[in-house]
Amino acid sequence: MSCELINGNSIAAELYGEIKTRINKLKEKGHSLCLAFVLIGNDPASEVYVRMKDKKCAELGIASTTFRMPYDTTEEQLLRKIDELNRDRNINGMLVQLPLPKHIDEDKIINAIDPMKDVDCFHPQNVGRMLIGNPIFLPATPAGIQQMLIRSKIDTAGKHVVIVGRSNIVGKPLAAMLMQRGSGADSTVTVVHSMTKRLKEITSQADILVAAVGKPRFITADMVKEGAVVIDVGTNEIDDPTSPKGKRLVGDVDTEGVMAKASRITPVPGGVGPMTICMLMSNAVTAAEQAYNNQAQK
Ligand code: NAP
Repeated sequence: MSCELINGNSIAAELYGEIKTRINKLKEKGHSLCLAFVLIGNDPASEVYVRMKDKKCAELGIASTTFRMPYDTTEEQLLRKIDELNRDRNINGMLVQLPLPKHIDEDKIINAIDPMKDVDCFHPQNVGRMLIGNPIFLPATPAGIQQMLIRSKIDTAGKHVVIVGRSNIVGKPLAAMLMQRGSGADSTVTVVHSMTKRLKEITSQADILVAAVGKPRFITADMVKEGAVVIDVGTNEIDDPTSPKGKRLVGDVDTEGVMAKASRITPVPGGVGPMTICMLMSNAVTAAEQAYNNQAQK
């Protein structure tokens, strides 16, 4: 079977065009957009993620401010910063970069963010809204996957989607989104995890198989149904002496092997990754649109 790659970069480019139009509309009305990033400590991966998001904001014309706080920031100090950002009318959205140092309770921090500024869609109120099918924001990675399916014209209605992984940022919200009524949804969803028995038997039934495991090349051809669509969320760095950096990025899917069976597959890099940051930017614009709509109604 010939397998087609689903190009996350070109789908993201199409979406950025739409996001830019929404930004221009806000600016024409004299509205400004500003996103705040809060970064605790100096974890190299977190630094890279915040820099990438900051750069994307600049490209799109969204103002952004990064608040850097030392690793030994107390929970109280961080809560005060969030309260300050919640009150700041010039800030439309905020994002506290995770993971946080162990001495800070992540749930407490997420709960403190104004749900209307919660562009990550981690606040329980936003998670609940998504679950009942009445979202303001959608979490970036699952939303990116859903857009990839919609824009690649992959029919999800009545299809069996198997999601490997049940994290709060990928597996669980994606399951909740794909089981809703409507376009890019209406699926029959199964979520499997490390305690699942007969994993291969279940993944082999998937019309659409999503791998969000965090294990390099975990999904192999024998776990995939002939003709399935395979979405690879994984981003794993592995040693590669042939690369100049000595490392290489691979997904959770053995892409080469699985391409012999799948009909469509997302590559790593260039698949789900670019869609995630794109959907985050879309949420940032939504936060601004909502804020100005609410002001107009007052
Ligand atoms: P996570 O929180 O570590 O969750 C991994 C999930 O995989 C867990 O539910 C775990 O089950 C399950 N799992 C682990 N071993 C398994 C096994 N042997 N069989 C079946 N299930 C197994 O990971 P995550 O945050 O969802 O991320 C998953 C991957 O996606 C990572 O590589 C991450 O870097 C990547 N990611 C990429 C993007 C992007 O934008 N491209 C965004 C987010 C994440 P248990 O719950 O039972 O432990």
